Amino acid sequence: MMRVLFVCALALLAGCGSASSEGSGDGPRVVATTTQLADMARNIAPGASVTSILSANTDPHAYEVRPDDVKALAGADVVLRSGGETDEWLDGALDSAGVSDDKIVDAGAAAGLEGDDPHWWQDPSKAVKAAEAIGRGIPGSDAAPYVEKLRALDSSVQACIDTVPEGERLLVTSHDALGYYARKYGIRVVGTVIPSLSTSGQPSAGEVDALVRTIRETGVKTIFAESSVNAKVESAIAAESGTKVGKELWADSLGPEGSDGATYIGSIESNTNALLEGFTGKPANCFVDG
Ligand SMILES: [Zn+2]
Repeated sequence: MMRVLFVCALALLAGCGSASSEGSGDGPRVVATTTQLADMARNIAPGASVTSILSANTDPHAYEVRPDDVKALAGADVVLRSGGETDEWLDGALDSAGVSDDKIVDAGAAAGLEGDDPHWWQDPSKAVKAAEAIGRGIPGSDAAPYVEKLRALDSSVQACIDTVPEGERLLVTSHDALGYYARKYGIRVVGTVIPSLSTSGQPSAGEVDALVRTIRETGVKTIFAESSVNAKVESAIAAESGTKVGKELWADSLGPEGSDGATYIGSIESNTNALLEGFTGKPANCFVDG
């Protein structure tokens, strides 16, 4: 590991590999930490060259910075960070790359983080504030049309969730990633398999037993796994509690191209349909175009 880093650090001078990016090439160079921020930037600034440090289905909580990331950051005109614990690992890389503070847009700060919970993107009304900040941060961009779409998404999600009686909106997920979504749309988070806002750690046997009891007592029908987290424990808990594992949620990462979680808006639509199916046990398709 050390040797690979060393070799790559030397090769940086000569251009070690190249980070994946999209765009016309002559627009501003934008580096985003998360897949959600990169997607927002591509929508808000189509002329920008956008690089995402995290790739699809990568767990942001467990990420380790690579030399290529530092190289991309060093050449960035604008850096988009998610804020909170999600991309705390960025700090060292920013120092190494010598990025000045005026280039950094802290989307989480703009969205309004609540307590220690970094998962603001799960609330589309917070995504609106983040998108507006991204628009202000990238020269020549216009966030207005995308913000319009996010507002429409917010009302559609609310309308979908409102079709389920409140007492049946019971959520169990892999880790505590959907708190913002749950608070916004009136869903009760009954429990999480990893009892944490991060994905690190495993539940103890006692915690698993307690969760199984809670699931039985509250009448939870479905346990939701997440696309970037191994679902082994979720399956075991479902088997023990007589429930089932629902469709994977796009919690901390977007999906690869071609998946229904490939875009931020698509990921929220897909999650909403998955939750509706899990709550009601019936197929759901809330979004005509999604
Ligand atoms: Zn998370």
